[in-house]
Amino acid sequence: MTNGRVPLDAPRPVLRRGRLQAVPTDAPKRILLATPRGYCAGVDRAVLAVEKALEQYDEPIYVRKEIVHNKHVVSSLEAEGAIFVDEVDAVPEGARVIFSAHGVSPAVVQAAEDRGLSAIDATCPLVTKVHREAVRFARDDFEILLVGHEGHEEVEGTAGHAPDRVTIVNNPDEADTVQVQNPDKLVWLSQTTLSVDETMETVRRLRARFPNLQDPPSDDICYATQNRQVAVKKIAPETDLVIVVGSANSSNSVRLVEVALEHGAKAAHRVDLSTEIEQEWLEGVRTIGVTSGASVPEGLVREVLMELEDAGFEDITEVRTAEEDLIFSLPKELRPSRRG
Ligand code: SF4
Repeated sequence: MTNGRVPLDAPRPVLRRGRLQAVPTDAPKRILLATPRGYCAGVDRAVLAVEKALEQYDEPIYVRKEIVHNKHVVSSLEAEGAIFVDEVDAVPEGARVIFSAHGVSPAVVQAAEDRGLSAIDATCPLVTKVHREAVRFARDDFEILLVGHEGHEEVEGTAGHAPDRVTIVNNPDEADTVQVQNPDKLVWLSQTTLSVDETMETVRRLRARFPNLQDPPSDDICYATQNRQVAVKKIAPETDLVIVVGSANSSNSVRLVEVALEHGAKAAHRVDLSTEIEQEWLEGVRTIGVTSGASVPEGLVREVLMELEDAGFEDITEVRTAEEDLIFSLPKELRPSRRG
């Protein structure tokens, strides 16, 4: 089980207990705590990779892009010494760089090689799986419709594995207009962190236009994204408010807000930290659902629960819809056997 780990403890705004006031209601107030939530195996591995590299190498450790999309995790690793950069050309020649969990295109790998960098690849193995699918279908002369959000790092990395063969489809409406060259040699792949329901709607509309569209060999939307959406769907109909802990650039966190609203939550908000919960959100609320995105340390969820306790939400029921025990091994450079 990986999502109970709270690895990062750097300074952040001190939690000021008692900031939220109890709102009187006739009925008991309660929290439904969605499980699974928080850290997935890919995030756990990527964060641990940076921590291990900082321990293992007596030299600066650069990280291309946010290692995972969570502000607190990034600032905590910065406090431990990691240096985050946007592109490899900001890394001094010959230095050591880690590629983030979202993956990189071959062009980025090449740029790192050209600068003589020692690269450690923390790409989630489930993203690497999609890269391999893109390479294989391109080699077999397929056109690839990549369902995902243009500009997201993962989509850039996947598209970069087959740049001449990939067309990005951002949403169901784009499925109605996207143009292809050969509708009989067409496959769809996807970003790993999308809404399952919206993606299925996009594919349904693509298939209405292109009946010979092939499916990916297995789900591209990963187990963690799916499990967190199933859990929030389960609690949403019973909630007046759902609070999702996660950063604004975290695709799977933002999807959890949308999924909660689509499945019956009367309101849903995303917060990076408990201090962002607003008093007015709690007016007339009896049941609050709480969950967190796949890049969120459990400590941040605990802080949310503590703040809500101050507002009278003391009764917490965990609602579990799946067990998770997947663990990925560290990048090869950081495995214990290599350290001698
Ligand atoms: Fe990997 Fe899924 Fe986690 Fe992304 S959300 S890092 S694809 S397990």
